[in-house]
Amino acid sequence: VAVQDPGDQDSGDPRSRLAVFPYRRRFIKPLVTAHGPWTWREGAIVRLTDGRGGATFGELAPVPWFGTETLEAAIAALEPFIKTGVDRGAIAAMPDHLPACRFALGMAIAQVPKLPLGESPPIGPERVAGLLPAGAGAIAQLPVLWERGHRTVKWKIGVDDPATELAIFGQILDQLPAGGRLRLDANGALDEAMARRWLATCDRAGDSVEFLEQPLPPGQELAMGRLAAEFGTAIALDESVATVGQLRRCHDRGWGGPMVIKPAIAGDPLELVQLIRDRALDVVLSSVFETAVGLGAIVAIADQLPSDRALGLGTADWLEPLPETWWQRLREVS
Ligand SMILES: [Mg+2]
Repeated sequence: VAVQDPGDQDSGDPRSRLAVFPYRRRFIKPLVTAHGPWTWREGAIVRLTDGRGGATFGELAPVPWFGTETLEAAIAALEPFIKTGVDRGAIAAMPDHLPACRFALGMAIAQVPKLPLGESPPIGPERVAGLLPAGAGAIAQLPVLWERGHRTVKWKIGVDDPATELAIFGQILDQLPAGGRLRLDANGALDEAMARRWLATCDRAGDSVEFLEQPLPPGQELAMGRLAAEFGTAIALDESVATVGQLRRCHDRGWGGPMVIKPAIAGDPLELVQLIRDRALDVVLSSVFETAVGLGAIVAIADQLPSDRALGLGTADWLEPLPETWWQRLREVS
């Protein structure tokens, strides 16, 4: 793994020397996305040092197929700051197409969270949505997740044929203990007629269904707004909103329902928290296969928001851990 280290270079601001530590982690279970198989999770940890041995960290975890910069573009954009140092002005000056860079620097400058490097944030399973496997395997997995303490579970739909999925859905609901909530995620795979069918079925399930996530593809927000007004079951946007700017625009255009936000690819975390609080947005925070560094920031952001929606953090055990020797290099501040 290549490591860019500023060494003894002069820095414009001694409190903000930047170093970038790329990583590459293999998926333990193969992850198939709508854009094909995802085999390696590539990202980087950025470190800011103050010249007195103090260091803060941020995570650079782009997801290019979700619309962010690539890791290569992100590292190239950060390179000048290795020489000049970083302050909050650098984040504001960064172009909109670098949301993962903005998050990484914003997190490191704001020093969130205050956890020992590499340590997972303390968070109980009741605050995290458990992920059910797609298809009929969900029925057997539901009691396992419940036993682990999850009270919200998520199931992907739009994968199999509708009749099969609706039948499995009925069995999941039958098995869901009182107080449990089910999230459905269509990843934009439905058309309007199918979305109506699902929403009508969800309405009949009372409040067991928390929401239907992204029934229609991005770009069809107006149609999803009409559907949301027509049914009692909430619709949550996910693929339609990625960055802080898109979140703001979506709300400007009248979206009042829940929105799934992945902070690591949304931009500056301070701006994100401020926007959500100022407008009392209904958000569901979610991860994108970050290390403990990025997960710590998501939990710290969640702790600053009034939302009691379960976090979408079910990604931690999908990746091989980074070696302790790698973490040790980040701790060695010269
Ligand atoms: Mg989703």
